[in-house]
Amino acid sequence: MSDLTIGVDIGGTKILAGVVDGGGTVLSRVRIPTPKDEAGIARAITDAVDRAREGWDGAAAIGVGAAGYVDESRSVVRSSPNLDWHDEPLKEMVERHSGLPVVIENDANAAAWGEYVHGAAADHTVMVMVTVGTGLGGGIVAHDRLWRGRFGIGGEIGHYRAVPKGLPCHCGRTGCMEQYASGTAHTRRTRAAAAETPHRARILLSLGDGTPEGVQGPHIQEAALRGDPVAAEAFIRTGQWLGQALADLAAVLDPGVFVLGGGVSGAGDLLLKPTEAAYRLAPSGAGERPFAEVVLAGLGPDAGLVGAADLARRP
Ligand SMILES: [Zn+2]
Repeated sequence: MSDLTIGVDIGGTKILAGVVDGGGTVLSRVRIPTPKDEAGIARAITDAVDRAREGWDGAAAIGVGAAGYVDESRSVVRSSPNLDWHDEPLKEMVERHSGLPVVIENDANAAAWGEYVHGAAADHTVMVMVTVGTGLGGGIVAHDRLWRGRFGIGGEIGHYRAVPKGLPCHCGRTGCMEQYASGTAHTRRTRAAAAETPHRARILLSLGDGTPEGVQGPHIQEAALRGDPVAAEAFIRTGQWLGQALADLAAVLDPGVFVLGGGVSGAGDLLLKPTEAAYRLAPSGAGERPFAEVVLAGLGPDAGLVGAADLARRP
């Protein structure tokens, strides 16, 4: 039973927890909406752990993936974009409650690790995961090591400057790739296009409340599959930005595979195809540099959970 660990994935909207075995199989799964207040979040995390553990007494450790800057000792969340955390001693809190050893990791890093060990990058030695969700997250694994950086906050691929003097970013800079290639940017652009040419976005608009503001991420996917021109073009545009990001990352990191994850990647080929096409049009060292594979995440929404659980067994 000692190869069982608990993974926890804390996102802005939901907390996912589960017991995972050494082969990456999720044996139990609990999902709780993320409360808005700090005390509520702490309670929800310990509650999720307790419920995931029920009937699985052998779990030996806990790994927690959390959105935000996690310090290099993997104990404290320095800050989080969508939770009100500042130097939150998350490891101590979960250890005190559970009595088990705990490691904390950035959620995108945990997802990358999950894909590297048990998912779409399992046959590779150097991989970059790009998570296209509320933000644009990333994780880098090379030769069995997760790239954390000196201060624990490496791999923040959403915040390199893609556009000089571009859109303002919540990180304090302007022109960050996150402002162009994230799910939020994808939705924002699609709403603007629907407002500009509503007659070309009839299917899309009919899925929400009829207004461009009512368009949500899942609507764009459904409308594109049903032939809505504005929705289809939205995926092409977002794929172009992502392909540009992959080409830039390949120039620095030279991975064997890029794994696309996050909510928008649930659209599958709608996102994958234009991303790969744009990546192949924009490499540095054209003709000389081999192309990395571009694939969809293999673990889906469980990547962060499975990765965090696996990190817990490698203290
Ligand atoms: Zn930024």
